[in-house]
Amino acid sequence: MAEVIDGEAVAAEVRSGIADCVDTLASAGARPGLATVLMSDDSASETYVSMKQRDCEEVGIEGIHVDVDADAPATALFDTIDDLNARADVHGVLVQLPVPEHVDRRAVLRRIDPEKDVDGFHPENVGRLVAGDARYKPCTPHGIQKLLAAYDIDTEGADAVVIGRSDIVGKPMANLLIQKAPGGNATTTVCHSRTADLEAKLADADIVVAAAGVPEFVDGSMLKPGAAVIDVGINRVDADTEKGYELVGDVDYDSASEVAGAITPVPGGVGPMTRAMLLYNTVKSAGRRHGVDVTLP
Ligand code: NDP
Repeated sequence: MAEVIDGEAVAAEVRSGIADCVDTLASAGARPGLATVLMSDDSASETYVSMKQRDCEEVGIEGIHVDVDADAPATALFDTIDDLNARADVHGVLVQLPVPEHVDRRAVLRRIDPEKDVDGFHPENVGRLVAGDARYKPCTPHGIQKLLAAYDIDTEGADAVVIGRSDIVGKPMANLLIQKAPGGNATTTVCHSRTADLEAKLADADIVVAAAGVPEFVDGSMLKPGAAVIDVGINRVDADTEKGYELVGDVDYDSASEVAGAITPVPGGVGPMTRAMLLYNTVKSAGRRHGVDVTLP
């Protein structure tokens, strides 16, 4: 059976290191602040934002939240971002995605001050990541890098398959895996909905990062024995539970864990790491802003 990669435990260690960074900043008279902005009535987005606020509180980061009416014009969101960009007590600005259809997502990401872009989605920060000079690594792929390192899963020389090419998970994940740097040096294949023979790619993969948003579509029969399987997917499927649904990943956990060498559960794998790395980028930003040398975990 595969070793279970415990994202909750690794995230708790990261959060503890971040709390130390907050103390270091406090000694220098600075308190890191993270602003979340929600322009949506979507319940999942509301939940994500409130979890991020709770995480801030736990480690001593000042959480600031702004709601923008989902029917308001795009300018209302831009004005909010401009205000937060200008505030000295705000070191990170995060606009919860997706934004409503009448708002240009790319324009939103460009509007955030790249120094406060703790999601790492501003084109300047994307460019720096690709160039191997990341200012802020996007939270989900960065969290996955930390998980792999925590479990001594060597990326160097490994054949990695990333399923999904989104701007927030698949592309930055692949970019991190190919960097000539620790946590990189993997020979990386990026698969997507037009990939001709996904199964052939998976059969050779030492590391699989599944981020397609398709419930349990990777099963054990598709995996190379001993592979490290990182399941990013968070999919709601109908279930006989109080809420009427349950959360499953992109990987069929039961069959995959019989073949894989290591595997992340859903929930409790990648999700907690994504949240922890947002705090990481926020204290990094505060350290940069105040010229304080924080020892990041
Ligand atoms: P997107 O929908 O933006 O991207 C999905 C990607 O998967 C696309 O590139 C798509 O290809 C590809 N894809 C879809 N179906 C298949 C298929 N059958 N075979 C191969 N590739 C396929 O999703 P995100 O990247 O935003 O998120 C992916 C999943 O991860 C979701 O379940 C999301 O909820 C979850 N997530 C979890 C996080 C966490 O912290 N755990 C954080 C962020 C996301 P194409 O480009 O051709 O359409």
